[in-house]
Amino acid sequence: MTDGVLQAYFLLGCFVRYLILLSVVLFFCVVCFSPLISIPAKAKSCRNSSGIGVSRILTIDGSMDARFGRVQFGEKLLPLKRGEVVLTFDDGPLPHVTNRILKALARHCAKATFFAVGKMAKAAPHVAQRIIQEGHTLGSHTHSHPRDLRHHYFPYSRFQIERGFHDVLSAVGGPIAPFFRFPGLHDYPKMNSYLDERGIANFSVDIVPGDTDDISARAIIRRTLSQLRRRGKGIILLHDIKPATARALPGLLSALKRRGYRLVHIVPSKPFQPVPIVKLNEVYEKFNHRDPKTIIGGLTYFQLYGEAIRKRRYRKRRTKRHSR
Ligand SMILES: [Zn+2]
Repeated sequence: MTDGVLQAYFLLGCFVRYLILLSVVLFFCVVCFSPLISIPAKAKSCRNSSGIGVSRILTIDGSMDARFGRVQFGEKLLPLKRGEVVLTFDDGPLPHVTNRILKALARHCAKATFFAVGKMAKAAPHVAQRIIQEGHTLGSHTHSHPRDLRHHYFPYSRFQIERGFHDVLSAVGGPIAPFFRFPGLHDYPKMNSYLDERGIANFSVDIVPGDTDDISARAIIRRTLSQLRRRGKGIILLHDIKPATARALPGLLSALKRRGYRLVHIVPSKPFQPVPIVKLNEVYEKFNHRDPKTIIGGLTYFQLYGEAIRKRRYRKRRTKRHSR
């Protein structure tokens, strides 16, 4: 073999090795950085001139005693300037309401944070996915929304939190925020410490329009604005299972814009880290899951889904009677 051919073989070998190295580096880049892609990097201005848009993005680090909101944590407020508000929606997703809310937010180029109930996210994964796709922040609000976790023992509360995040994560199939809100805003010290250990930010509220009280859309807007006049800023608590909230939202966003309020979008510094599956199983095993009186935002599943469930129950009862 001539020297020229040997040299060509040597160069070809180097080129192949270089290609293999490059593809390995590219593969690791995609695997390591893809979870961060869905977290927006900077605030976007709104093409719709009458839309409120997002004035700034506030990054929250869940690993440092992250508890925010006047109602549960008194002085521990989110670092907002006067006139800044954060929109949050609990208890969903419920397709016919959440989709309307997402539409109103998109029209205003507004971004919100959704605290989804695990069961609800699993029942409507396409809506949970849409929340992420449209650039909103998605956290969790337990697995089945027990009314008051203070009345339950610690393993149950821990199960509700971990399983809730697990449900939302599997519904979305991608990264979610390590943001949590207690059902009914009922926290207790042991659970707060657990959330700290897990690097999960614990969100309370500042402005409570009371949309779970079955009030009208106009009342929701009026109550939000009057509380904001007094407090000047804060985290607004709304529910994306209430049709009145979906009706109120376009008017509320316009009213906030007219009065000079600015919308802040909260995002996590890093995505939620699920517990290893072995630890999660341990949490499941310690808890015998029997919770028939599950209530989501003051409504039972029957009230939420109405007709379809009633028909199914009726059919069951009829077949029972015939079989006697
Ligand atoms: Zn709730």
